[in-house]
Amino acid sequence: MARWLPRIQRYAHYLAEGMRADGTGLTCAICARDIRAGLHNSRPEAATVDHLDPRALTGELFDRRPWNLVCVCQGCNSRKKDRTMQAYLSGFSAEFAAAAWARIGQRLANKVNFGDWVAAAGVAGYSAKKRSK
Ligand SMILES: [Zn+2]
Repeated sequence: MARWLPRIQRYAHYLAEGMRADGTGLTCAICARDIRAGLHNSRPEAATVDHLDPRALTGELFDRRPWNLVCVCQGCNSRKKDRTMQAYLSGFSAEFAAAAWARIGQRLANKVNFGDWVAAAGVAGYSAKKRSK
């Protein structure tokens, strides 16, 4: 689908948010469950990249600036739909929302030099030659 983030950028987000070289170590920024890259999106534990505010930049779907994107599980992503993270988390307890925002803040802090993570994704083997259409 045209709106999907290119594979190497998705893997750069996965690496910036804690994925180890063997594919483990990634958790959902919203619910904190273990998630895995490369799983079919019928799997609730599949890693996905979600927009904090889908329309932040231009008012159009989708704003792909690195600090607007965070890794969440397919289950949370499909429940959130295209709402903002603020709107989505307002439906949970204050404790749950605060834990999610803390995780999100930590992960965005790792993306200040996002180009480094894109380079790391290439070095790790998640390169253009492995990208599917
Ligand atoms: Zn989740």
